[in-house]
Amino acid sequence: MNELEVLNKHVSDILECRIEATLLEMERTALCEVPENDTMTPKEFLKLTEQTCARAFETLKNQSLKVEASVDELINTLKAQLTWDESLKVGLNEEHYPCKNPEGKHKTRCQECLCCSFYNTLNTFSQRNTESLIKCE
Ligand SMILES: [Zn+2]
Repeated sequence: MNELEVLNKHVSDILECRIEATLLEMERTALCEVPENDTMTPKEFLKLTEQTCARAFETLKNQSLKVEASVDELINTLKAQLTWDESLKVGLNEEHYPCKNPEGKHKTRCQECLCCSFYNTLNTFSQRNTESLIKCE
């Protein structure tokens, strides 16, 4: 494998095995268990649901942090490859990835520059993370 293939594989692994897989797991987290014996009183059912939710909350919190960490690693892996043009790196070390060529007065983002690409990628995963939390059953 050449260097690019190695990078490609590494990035795909982070994306598929860690980010996507974890997001899917999160979406499938059950927040409510249907009791197996139907002799359960409403009060008992409520208690069971509270316990299930408390457990799910811990799991989801950890999975969510895991996704964030994996996205960071993905971003840093990509950043580490940007050796071919130092001028491109300017802005990428700033927290909000300021746009290189903002269009007009009120637009702060374009769809093309590298800073905006990183910003949009981070934003996309952040939204996916939130969606996965909302989608829990
Ligand atoms: Zn831009």
